[in-house]
Amino acid sequence: MKYEFPVTRTTNPKAKPDPNNLPFGKFFTDHMFIIEYDEGQGWHDGRIVPYAPVELDPAAVVFHYGQEMFEGLKAYRTVSGGVQLFRPDMNAKRTNNTNDRLCIPAVDEEMYVEAVKQIVKVDADWIPDKKDTSLYIRPFIIATEPTLGIHVSRSYKFIIILSPSGPYYANGLEPTKLYVEDKYVRATAGGTGEAKCGGNYAASLKAQVVAAEAGYDQILWLDGVERKYVEEVGTSNAFFVIGDEVVTAPLEGTILPGITRNSCIQVLKDNGYKVSERRMSIDEVVEAYNKGMFNEMFASGTAAIISPVGTLKYKDTVMSINGGKIGPVAQFLYDTIYGIQTGAVEDTYGWTVPVE
Ligand SMILES: *Cc1c(COP(=O)(O)O)cnc(C)c1O
Repeated sequence: MKYEFPVTRTTNPKAKPDPNNLPFGKFFTDHMFIIEYDEGQGWHDGRIVPYAPVELDPAAVVFHYGQEMFEGLKAYRTVSGGVQLFRPDMNAKRTNNTNDRLCIPAVDEEMYVEAVKQIVKVDADWIPDKKDTSLYIRPFIIATEPTLGIHVSRSYKFIIILSPSGPYYANGLEPTKLYVEDKYVRATAGGTGEAKCGGNYAASLKAQVVAAEAGYDQILWLDGVERKYVEEVGTSNAFFVIGDEVVTAPLEGTILPGITRNSCIQVLKDNGYKVSERRMSIDEVVEAYNKGMFNEMFASGTAAIISPVGTLKYKDTVMSINGGKIGPVAQFLYDTIYGIQTGAVEDTYGWTVPVE
């Protein structure tokens, strides 16, 4: 093995959370992976250590200018008791795309996947095995150089933490209520919309708070120029079933290229669905609704996999989709993708990577 990271085991293991009542992202395992970057030295001293707070100089670049990126993937306990990852090479590749946009030095993609595998192996007894649970993996990179002048940091920390998690939405596959945001925008072409970085989220919180106050779970973003074309949903990509066409926004720099999105498109195409990656205006959605052709809507992302949408509100129009229930396309995708992830459905794509 090219990468073998030294492990310092905790002397103080934590109690495991109740597997029957697991929230998303609140509990963390006993260990974490960390590797540092320094100009002239590159990435160095990768290691697995007890989970602990990180000490940073108050002048660290990340605190002032937000030079930061993150990823999200999961380890699943399979039906036969093994442990596997889902397309981790795609996360490694996307990390480097994000890094490039934020002037963070590239990481070796093979090292990245090895680091994920090794930290998951160390904390494998934290992987829950109840239905709809998994071990959420959060790799992230922060700029650590303690200098205030605005510039590209010359030092970084890349850390991986793990969180045993239940369904992203407490109600599982219960359809969500979405609010179409027509005031605030998330991204415009040329910005950082296709980078997975904290800055995008900081800028989206205000709209999320306003939507929550109005009784909605999440936002459906429109394009940042005309506020006309549907883009994505909070933390996930958006799919619409209009008649027999499954539509999702194209990758033109403003949305995050979701790995779940990519997997959904592949699975749908291979099963004879008509899938279009195209611009679609919110007016077209409303028109389809009025004609009785807006059959389904769902969001796709690692955290929830597939999250059906039951209600969509745009200005004064409140659309109830598929009677507020999960539709057949969303159910099929959830069963197929979650099935592949957990080994219940045969992986004909080579998407799964065993950890042990
Ligand atoms: C992470 C993320 C997604 C989903 O990507 P996956 O790879 O499917 O998890 C979608 N939109 C945004 C804004 C994201 O940050």
